[in-house]
Amino acid sequence: MKNAQGRKSVANGFDFSHGLEGLDADEAAVVRRRQKVLGTMGPLFYNRPLHVVSGSGVHLRGADGADYLDCYNNVACVGHSNPHVRQAVADQLGRQNTHSRYLQDEVLDYAERLLATFPGAIDHVAFTNSGSESNDLALRMARVATGHMGVVVTQGAYHGITSLVSSVSPSFGTGLPLAPFLATVRVDDALHDADGSGDGTGDGADGAAASDAAADAVWAVLGPRFNQAFDALEHGGYGVSCVLIDEVMSSDGILPGARGWIARLADAVHARGGLLISDEVQAGFGRMGGVMWGFQRHGAEADIVTMGKPMGNGIPVGGVAYRHPIGDAFAACTRYFNTFGGNPVSMRAAGAVLDEIERLGLVAHARDMGDRLARDLSEILEGHERFGGLRHAGLFLGIDVTDGADDGGAAQPDGAAARAIVNALRDDEHVLISAAGPGDAVLKVRPPLVFDDSDADRLLEAVRHICERGLFDR
Ligand code: PMP
Repeated sequence: MKNAQGRKSVANGFDFSHGLEGLDADEAAVVRRRQKVLGTMGPLFYNRPLHVVSGSGVHLRGADGADYLDCYNNVACVGHSNPHVRQAVADQLGRQNTHSRYLQDEVLDYAERLLATFPGAIDHVAFTNSGSESNDLALRMARVATGHMGVVVTQGAYHGITSLVSSVSPSFGTGLPLAPFLATVRVDDALHDADGSGDGTGDGADGAAASDAAADAVWAVLGPRFNQAFDALEHGGYGVSCVLIDEVMSSDGILPGARGWIARLADAVHARGGLLISDEVQAGFGRMGGVMWGFQRHGAEADIVTMGKPMGNGIPVGGVAYRHPIGDAFAACTRYFNTFGGNPVSMRAAGAVLDEIERLGLVAHARDMGDRLARDLSEILEGHERFGGLRHAGLFLGIDVTDGADDGGAAQPDGAAARAIVNALRDDEHVLISAAGPGDAVLKVRPPLVFDDSDADRLLEAVRHICERGLFDR
């Protein structure tokens, strides 16, 4: 929803203008205290913001003493308070944690390990402290490497908070102007019906053929739109430096899409002299199931890959991986130094995350658990009037909530109904999810990768209760 100044409020945000009615005494006191120092710029989730005091695995303990099942956390990908990550961080803090202009083994150990996870020609990496910084650096690198300025993103994209990156993030609304060198492409209609299930590596010959046909169908709609965006940037004198793409289209409504279409997009942007920047802040580190990186689902080759959120399991760390000629071009005209980027503590945390992903087989687990959740949730929701469909890739699921089309017309997204479901799950079932997409009407389910069968049982039971209460019906 947009206000008069064009600001788009965050999905599932606490509405400060409604005051503190409905909150218990502790919640109201903490919200008041927070507002006094942090103001209202930063959103809070839920009608009753959650006061968290501790966490373990996929569980968060509230100040109310309740155990909340966290089905919304891609940062704590290997679990809240993961002991292996904690040990690595504590050990490194006891050794040294200075800046990156010294020779240090920690950054090299991690860089070598991380780069080994990339297919194709990606052979270098730079480290940052967040997804926003990663995208900011990637855009600057693309600009230098191509000599062009123009950026293409999806219509609902979110890529972060720096001045540059926020100006290419239409999901903020129009309260601050977007960049003049930005062109946006609508994708939600074309990707809406494609579920991204399976391991993303092809299901044998038949699966690959089916996937090719689906990708062709998507590209038949999106190809002309992207080419129109490229044309607009060229006519505007900006040229095409890159397409910056969130591989799961989280803020566009969770649209993993038919496998293969991103490979066609890569060809199209290359034909204009631009680069494909794969924003893996959401999709990366196994989240899509069966593959480490979202672009691998498509058999595509990205030129630059940006990372953040899950990389350090909560320790701030991000990265930009790239083909080395892109970095060489950047180095020829400027330099990159980032005081905290690549610091030894963050590198040890990130290394411990890779250890856990490997030790627990989380890339395959994300595929299997995601497929189970998609199947079981669909079974529960099928037949309920407000259920508009489910899409997923790995452990990232989007569930459409509609008005149920009581007037005989096509069902429309219903953000208010989605909000009611999200808050009922939080208040009455102690299960945490959120919403995203057009009208904030897509339920977003994205648990830590260590989510297991008993956690799934609890989530499904909670959704059953919500259905019994009629929240998925008109
Ligand atoms: N890209 C995407 C796709 C994101 O979802 C986010 C954060 N939600 C970012 C970039 C920015 O990451 P950060 O908040 O770590 O700066």
